[in-house]
Amino acid sequence: MPEPDGPFECGTCETPVAFEDARRTKTMGGLDATKWQTLCCPSCGSRLKTVFVGG
Ligand SMILES: [Zn+2]
Repeated sequence: MPEPDGPFECGTCETPVAFEDARRTKTMGGLDATKWQTLCCPSCGSRLKTVFVGG
């Protein structure tokens, strides 16, 4: 299973967020939640990236 790279820089608070520190949420738009997760900034909650986590 591919491991997404990090850290992801938050565009809102400019904090680099490590993959393991990002909050995981379901994606918008009905993508399969077992395969796709949206990473969100733990500081401000902004969406960082949608990543493929398995499948
Ligand atoms: Zn942020």
